[in-house]
Amino acid sequence: MTHVGIIGAGIGGLYLALYLQQQGVSVTLHADRTPDELRQSRLPNTATYWSAMRQRERQLGVNHWDEQAADWSVRHLHLRIGPEPEPLRFHVELDEAGLTVDHRLYASRLLEDFADRGGEVVYGPVRPESLEPLSEEYDLVVVSAGRGGLTDLFPRREGAANFTQPQRFLCSGIYRGIELPPPVGTYLSFVPGGELFHVPVITFDGNRSVLFFEIVPGGELDALLNVRYEEDPRKFDRTVLQLLEKAFPETRALVDDASFGVNRPQDILQGAITPTARRGYAQLPNGKWVMALGDVHVVNDPLLAQGANAASACAFLLGEAIVADDLAFDEMWCRRTEAALWAYAQNPFDWTNYMLRDPLPANVARLMAAATQDQRVADEFGNNFATPERNWNILASPERTDAYLSRLADEDRAR
Ligand SMILES: Cc1cc2nc3c(=O)[nH]c(=O)nc-3n(C[C@H](O)[C@H](O)[C@H](O)COP(=O)(O)OP(=O)(O)OC[C@H]3O[C@@H](n4cnc5c(N)ncnc54)[C@H](O)[C@@H]3O)c2cc1C
Repeated sequence: MTHVGIIGAGIGGLYLALYLQQQGVSVTLHADRTPDELRQSRLPNTATYWSAMRQRERQLGVNHWDEQAADWSVRHLHLRIGPEPEPLRFHVELDEAGLTVDHRLYASRLLEDFADRGGEVVYGPVRPESLEPLSEEYDLVVVSAGRGGLTDLFPRREGAANFTQPQRFLCSGIYRGIELPPPVGTYLSFVPGGELFHVPVITFDGNRSVLFFEIVPGGELDALLNVRYEEDPRKFDRTVLQLLEKAFPETRALVDDASFGVNRPQDILQGAITPTARRGYAQLPNGKWVMALGDVHVVNDPLLAQGANAASACAFLLGEAIVADDLAFDEMWCRRTEAALWAYAQNPFDWTNYMLRDPLPANVARLMAAATQDQRVADEFGNNFATPERNWNILASPERTDAYLSRLADEDRAR
């Protein structure tokens, strides 16, 4: 019987482990932290899960937050493009709400689900030199250790739209003392020098807000770049308020000055990501092949909220490939399976990298302007966060965007 070893209990590793468990495949999950340790760790991301991922969640029976999400989820997307007070604006009520749950709450619960259902978990970080012995123990080893874990094994992918340095400085946190005006959803603002997401998030303390700044280095928002929360929390909170005042006054107006601040000291992350696609399989010195999953395979800048969604989609594709053909996890199997994963992951990667340009490419700006006038364009763009290949299909070139918009105009004329 096939036995799969998975390294890393983030979104990719957990979704694959739960999927294989459901399919009756034997799995061992190597998690670097216990659920309690995870709960006590620093905020690692502030990911929104779109409808396609929420369907996978239901398929796995881990949709524990549906009730809370009824009134605190990303049901609506409110977009603002350009400087306030008069940005372009459009609004989308999503066909199905996206969900943002503090990752530490989410991942610790899914890890407990896997163990409670009889799954084997080995706690402790896997070192690079342990991969070879593990590959002798399992029929297949999957490395899903995130963007900082064991990535060196997998070479950068030739021909992919890779960057060599981060395009944004990221500063995301969970805050108290800020309202989210109805209809509840995510407010996404594009301004010169970066972006701000204001997101409803379910946390250990109930409903809170994420404020997530994407900052172009050297741009107009980079006052936050050199202020580390750990060094001076008050100065940090003050700088956030100053930045809101300067670039996002509508969001600033939602703040209650007396109670505003980072929710808990561990509820903040500051860093940067270099968007990188890697070849998703590698051979160890003993001749065994290992597969990469999630951020180890393709790491996106979080601008368009795609990494976790892609990791879960690819976990299912990888799980299906393991179930469909377990004759030998050899080079051919890895190459074929990785091609299926890349066919999915390339779209959010390319779409995100295109939208990271500052200023936004002209055809993206044209589409956004059209969305302010035509709700069909707005609805398509907003709902396609769950199906990124569709947005990339429309935005990959000016010709595609123009053809899409003229098709809608033709439809109108034909009415
Ligand atoms: C600020 C921010 C906002 C984001 N927003 C979104 C969003 O809105 N939507 C979205 O889809 N994505 C978003 N992302 C991206 C998303 O968080 C990642 O793409 C996703 O978590 C990747 O899943 P993963 O399983 O590959 O890695 P991770 O979730 O990082 O999990 C990897 C796990 O492996 C563990 N590990 C590491 N090394 C080892 C080792 N040696 N041995 C054992 N375990 C190890 C880690 O501790 C971790 O638990 C965001 C990211 C950031 C930083």
